[in-house]
Amino acid sequence: MYSEKEIEERLSERNIRPTAIRILVLRKMLEMNQDEAFSLLDLENRLDTIDKSTLFRTLTLFHDNLLVHSIDDGSGSIKYSLCKRGCECFGEASHVHFSCTLCHRTFCFEKIAIPRIDLPVGFSYESANFVFKGVCSVCSRSQK
Ligand SMILES: [Zn+2]
Ligand SMILES: [Zn+2]
Repeated sequence: MYSEKEIEERLSERNIRPTAIRILVLRKMLEMNQDEAFSLLDLENRLDTIDKSTLFRTLTLFHDNLLVHSIDDGSGSIKYSLCKRGCECFGEASHVHFSCTLCHRTFCFEKIAIPRIDLPVGFSYESANFVFKGVCSVCSRSQK
């Protein structure tokens, strides 16, 4: 369990002023699997006291302040995942993601960095979206 103080600290670390809503959203994200990414709809279903536009604004703020990163896993909805404490991925994720074709969950592989790629002259890098597709460990266990 996370204390109010811990959650406020996580917000202030990223220069986000702690408000009741922001604390509530971050608490929920901390309680969910932190190695997984969730869509706006997933979060909305778990936070039914917050209306969708407030939730979206809160997530956008979290994203702009590098508290969460976003992943486009090709499912049609952007997924969000908490950044690890002290992580310095500038803006977009610097690590690999995995999208399970059976349970449709998206996982963060924080320990696997996106390889550096030398782009042709004149191209500058802003963000990368590195998503593997396949069967996750939970689904492959239950397939046997
Ligand atoms: Zn799966
Ligand atoms: Zn991630």
